[in-house]
Amino acid sequence: MIPLVFHPIYSILDLPVRHRFPIQKYQAIHTALRQFGVPEASFHQPQAVNIESLKSVLNPLYVQQLTTGTLDPKAMRRIGFPWSEQLIERTLTAVGGTILTSQLALQTGKAINLTGGYHHAFANFGSGFCMVNDLYLSALNMLQQPNIDRILIFDCDVHQGDGTAKLAERNANVKTVSIHGEKNFPHRKQISDYDFPLPKGTTDDAYLETVDSALNLAVNIFQPDAVIYDAGVDVHEDDDLGHLCMSTEGVYARDKLVLDLCEQKGLPVAAVIGGGYQRDIDALVKVHLQLFKAAGVY
Ligand SMILES: [Zn+2]
Repeated sequence: MIPLVFHPIYSILDLPVRHRFPIQKYQAIHTALRQFGVPEASFHQPQAVNIESLKSVLNPLYVQQLTTGTLDPKAMRRIGFPWSEQLIERTLTAVGGTILTSQLALQTGKAINLTGGYHHAFANFGSGFCMVNDLYLSALNMLQQPNIDRILIFDCDVHQGDGTAKLAERNANVKTVSIHGEKNFPHRKQISDYDFPLPKGTTDDAYLETVDSALNLAVNIFQPDAVIYDAGVDVHEDDDLGHLCMSTEGVYARDKLVLDLCEQKGLPVAAVIGGGYQRDIDALVKVHLQLFKAAGVY
């Protein structure tokens, strides 16, 4: 039974009408998995990450202002959500979720968080719906475990993992790979260890070839002890915020390729669902479910 991490709070956030963030998708993925017969016992409920522990890794003033609602309005606009206590509780629980997922992955080989992938969050500011970088914090958490010395963050969300790249810049034990749309948010990119910018309209074959060579390259050169995988589905042809042209089958093939290669190499993998922005939640959930299918969850 592959451990899954979920908390109902993932989908609890009051947003303005027509806000483009599909907050309902997390609960909808959980519901769909239960309908497919995934037992409730597969789901692990995370706790919110401790605020003091964040201050030791991120900019303490940013953490303080973010969690108390005292960030300036411009900084909140860059994040893209109106501030509320609910938002902070949800954020801290989601980050706790990816950390729990990484711990479960080390114990069992593979685990998935039903949210996560806040890769536009930096040490001192948030951006693009991301406030606290769960990927980098989970990498640090994994590094505290015995015999875990090198973590690869493999980011296939259509947007560049700019916050993760910057946070990991000076950490020799964390390597970052980002495969993303070249002409897409963030317009000012950071430098990951390996970046693979793809042109608009990239379709399944070219995309999958890139993922295959990128992952093989990073694993062979860096020899990680574990992988954190951002399986963002905003690469899909129907996505509102991506400009690539992946089919649903292509997304399945990508997730299977990544998970199978990690398994072959004996690498524990902690996966997060990442971005995905379609207004039709059922259609969006169908694409996110490919990760769970590829992992053998159902
Ligand atoms: Zn994205």
